[in-house]
Amino acid sequence: MDSDLVFDYLHRCTKCLLPDTFPRIELDENGVCNYCKDQPPYMEKGEQAFIELLNKYRDVGKDYDCIAPISGGRDSAYVLHQMVKKYNMRVQTLTVDSGFITTEAYRNIETITDNLGVDHVWLRDEKQIAQARRNTVIKFRGWVKNPSIHNIVPVLNSGDKMMNLQMFKYASENNIPLLLGGNIVGTSTFEHGNSRTGYLGVFPDDHGVYSLTDKLKLILYYGWDFASNTYNWHQSIFTEYIKGAFIYFFDSLLKPKNVELVGFYDYVPWIEEKIVSTISKIGWQGAEDTSTTWRIDDSAYALINYVYFYLAGIDEHVELYSKMIRAGQITRKEAYTRCKSDSRPRIPSLETGWSELGVTEQLVHTALDRYREKMIKNYLKGTSFERCMYSSLPSTSHLTLEAPLLEPTTSHVD
Ligand SMILES: [Zn+2]
Repeated sequence: MDSDLVFDYLHRCTKCLLPDTFPRIELDENGVCNYCKDQPPYMEKGEQAFIELLNKYRDVGKDYDCIAPISGGRDSAYVLHQMVKKYNMRVQTLTVDSGFITTEAYRNIETITDNLGVDHVWLRDEKQIAQARRNTVIKFRGWVKNPSIHNIVPVLNSGDKMMNLQMFKYASENNIPLLLGGNIVGTSTFEHGNSRTGYLGVFPDDHGVYSLTDKLKLILYYGWDFASNTYNWHQSIFTEYIKGAFIYFFDSLLKPKNVELVGFYDYVPWIEEKIVSTISKIGWQGAEDTSTTWRIDDSAYALINYVYFYLAGIDEHVELYSKMIRAGQITRKEAYTRCKSDSRPRIPSLETGWSELGVTEQLVHTALDRYREKMIKNYLKGTSFERCMYSSLPSTSHLTLEAPLLEPTTSHVD
């Protein structure tokens, strides 16, 4: 399966890039999708409101006005830069070590905190990290025996739920009244997706937030999903699941009263070009094995995106670029070229992943090929992806990265 061929083959919305394999998509007689027609542009609360809010927290804390966490990725780097340089807050920055931080992210954290001259601390619980790594190996080996597109994110993203708690605790103990972030560390509305739970028929709102009923549905679904896979029958997996579910469901109750959590991108527009050009000037760099500048901080995402593309011809980029097209940030043609390049598998990262997870590439592909048939039967019947998989397109046993990155294309673009 060649990722470029699959990318070009898929039948896409004529306005954005969403293919007919995307959850809950409907294309009308003009080939325009329901997301283009129904999704109103996201309106931020505005910079004036943000400045007024910041003013309430200036000089309240002893040494710092706020915490702007840095993950090594692009969005949190921009938030940190803006809080220091533009909004002149007394900023403490920190990183929660999940145990899955990439070398690129370590490099960015060091360079940027140095260049901005801000105080940085690591919140690191070695025992928790070791446990999260062990659990991920167990869960992924179990996943390979019994794969599912629905749970690949929770399988590979251990400990994510604990991050906010660790940051809340630090802020509260150190008397810092404001924590900048989003759901996790500085995510924007552009980056919340429908694809993660869409095939289950569960969809979040514009902020990536699920209703209480949907949260409960997800907790029960994932609980059943983990429990019914006997490879997951370990005390540590059970404990991780119960803790994660509890935090997920009661996150707002777990926030200390003396700390406020504010989403930067709920106020200030997320403009990719501005973000990347600003942080590049203070030394931020992407990864060598991909053209995307998104999620290069988290080692799980090369594999998560690969699995989604392999199983349904989509990954997170297609949703992001479609939103950017709708917001007028990028033309469809430009988005097509970039998205195709960004969707290519990150071979070096994947190879590191196989070895850390204790699996072979062949084992994973055998499992994926078997599961893809089930996936097509259950969710992708009659789509261009099904035709593509059963047509006589030249193919290899797995996705390849042979084509150069960002190769211009004219096919299937208006
Ligand atoms: Zn569309």
